Amino acid sequence: MSIPFIDLKAQYRALQPQIQARINAVLEHGQYIMGPEVRELEERLEAYTGAKHCITVASGTEALLISLMALGIGPGDEVITTPFTFVATAEVIVLLGAKPVFVDIEPDTCNIDANLIEAAITPRTKAIMPVSLYGQPADMDEINAIAARHGNIPVIEDAAQSFGAEYKERKSCNLSSIGCTSFFPSKPLGCYGDGGAIFTSDDAIAQACREIRVHGQSKRYVHTRVGVGGRMDTLQCAIVLAKLERFDWEIARRIEVGAHYNRIFDEAGVPRVVQRPDRTSVYGQYTVLCDHRDAVQLAFQQAGVPTAVHYPVPLNEQPAYKHLCCPDCTPLAKAAAKRVMSLPMSADLSDADAASVSSLIAKALSS
Ligand SMILES: *Cc1c(COP(=O)(O)O)cnc(C)c1O
Repeated sequence: MSIPFIDLKAQYRALQPQIQARINAVLEHGQYIMGPEVRELEERLEAYTGAKHCITVASGTEALLISLMALGIGPGDEVITTPFTFVATAEVIVLLGAKPVFVDIEPDTCNIDANLIEAAITPRTKAIMPVSLYGQPADMDEINAIAARHGNIPVIEDAAQSFGAEYKERKSCNLSSIGCTSFFPSKPLGCYGDGGAIFTSDDAIAQACREIRVHGQSKRYVHTRVGVGGRMDTLQCAIVLAKLERFDWEIARRIEVGAHYNRIFDEAGVPRVVQRPDRTSVYGQYTVLCDHRDAVQLAFQQAGVPTAVHYPVPLNEQPAYKHLCCPDCTPLAKAAAKRVMSLPMSADLSDADAASVSSLIAKALSS
């Protein structure tokens, strides 16, 4: 067996004429920075998510950073988030001189446990940043309600893994004050380099994000605030536009592959990350829980089935972050980090490949 972890080549082959036409159009008009495809993509994504504003930016990390800057977050401020995520979530908080306050996760979804958030709020809490991990939105209505009770604390959804997912019939990225996503190639909606986007329906936040994206510029050479060089290239926007043509099919297919895995693993008694009934996961990662993970990964590697670990160490145990908080205050994140293992997932994974992967895993992990 030789199965790709993510099949970006099959996706390219399926969309080759559209992608090349879009790239050629940019090469012909030559507006490589803030060309017409940038706004075209933003309008398409506003319509897709239902958010009033989409601001494309250089990456998912930049989307998070610019959002925090737009909220004026800085030294002395606290941002509540999860330790069980990609490092960028906490990195941007620390970069601005603020303090990440890590709250533990739900052991079955691996998302932040909304029930633990209220106890972590202090007068210095300036934002709550849940992550829609593995493509499944966190408990956003519960988190929004807590934020509202404490003076409307802004809620930033880190939706880097969940673009296309739904929560109570609303799209991820349009579930709270601000939503941030990433177009890193392996994310559910990827470009061919770095890219990302911020979503909000708040006009003032949107305007601030647009200015911060171009060095805090409100008019040419008028810098009303401190910003960054955070634009997304026209070429990358053109590629995402081409990929949108197949995106609904891809999301439906990812959900089908995920449901197939779920069925086999539940029959075999393999523990896995679960999905709540009021939301969809787009399976940014498909993740099972297993003991003796190193040995299992090695055996699968030898059988031609690639696996990955998202994430092996909670952020409050990472060398650069552990002094910021108690490393042992999130025991469930610590336990999950030892057991999670992600499997091949993409819209182009064939039914036959999904079946071979799942039977191999079921055999190894049941009992
Ligand atoms: C990928 C990812 C990011 C960062 O996105 P980039 O586009 O790589 O900067 C942030 N948060 C989470 C949860 C991610 O998975």
